[in-house]
Amino acid sequence: MSSARRLSEIIGNERLLRILRKGELPQAALFAGPEGVGKKTIALLLAAKANCHSPVGNDLCGVCGSCVRAAAGNHPDILLFQVRPRETKISVDDMRRLNEEAQYRPFEGRFRFFVVDRAEKMSPNAANSILKTLEEPPSTSRIVLVTAFPHLILPTIRSRCQTFRFLPLERGEIMNYLETQTDLEQESLRASFSAGSIGAALSIDIEKTLDERDAILSLLQEWLEKRRFSVIFRYCNRKPLVSKMKSRDAVYQYLVQLELLCYDLYFLAVGTPERIVNQDRCKELGEMASTVAPGEISRLVDSVLDAKRDLERNVNSTICFQTLWLEALGHHIPGESAGDRQPRR
Ligand SMILES: [Zn+2]
Repeated sequence: MSSARRLSEIIGNERLLRILRKGELPQAALFAGPEGVGKKTIALLLAAKANCHSPVGNDLCGVCGSCVRAAAGNHPDILLFQVRPRETKISVDDMRRLNEEAQYRPFEGRFRFFVVDRAEKMSPNAANSILKTLEEPPSTSRIVLVTAFPHLILPTIRSRCQTFRFLPLERGEIMNYLETQTDLEQESLRASFSAGSIGAALSIDIEKTLDERDAILSLLQEWLEKRRFSVIFRYCNRKPLVSKMKSRDAVYQYLVQLELLCYDLYFLAVGTPERIVNQDRCKELGEMASTVAPGEISRLVDSVLDAKRDLERNVNSTICFQTLWLEALGHHIPGESAGDRQPRR
């Protein structure tokens, strides 16, 4: 996504982008939404547009001196704050610098922009130090906090910002983008496994992802045969799952895989095999689909979606993954042969 040089090149979130391009940003904004959908890029491009010498429509020109400096990352009125290399938090010193810099008038542009990427990484002291600046920034200063985990940001910070919510991209939007990247293979699988993030679609290690997919598929297979929690418990303590269960990102990826597999089972169960993503596992999935009612699959999908939300709310990742199967166990009605519910999206 970082390759976009103008706002018109951004993919997805069209409605929100139209609103953002038309108006001016509030003095304190929170850009919230999944990783890899372009939040930081959009914040920086809006900053460039606000300072562009000759905007074109609702976009920056991309060629004036201001735009060139903004694209190179050395515009004196556009400052990006993020976790420094080898650090794990955004430091209080950096946020004190933001406070100080925010008091200055623009050096050459119309507005000073302060973009804080991964704002959830501000230490409590760092976050507290910018409260006053968020509340009453000088009229020419704009602060944009960017995060995929808004729940991890102090409520006192969130309440001082206007929140803009970004959505995951549609699979088709990601496919279109990937097709413009000539050196990429397996676009379709990349788009499917990306969870709506162009960043993930570009960086995904397909081979590793397929290995993980197969681990989740075996788990699902064994689960459907036995439908016992002990099966899951045993599996989560075995390779390759065991080493990853503590990582939020890894568990999120498993949930993405599981959701896709469930949809594939559903499509097979209702007789639309052309819609399945995991075409290379069509045979196994077909056998599994014949043993489970569509209604049960859709309830499993519901549990997966709940688990994804819990994970975003910072619930322990292992517990999230295991709870979902416990819930699914509760849904299972022995002998149920047909279901009319469709998975919710
Ligand atoms: Zn320009």
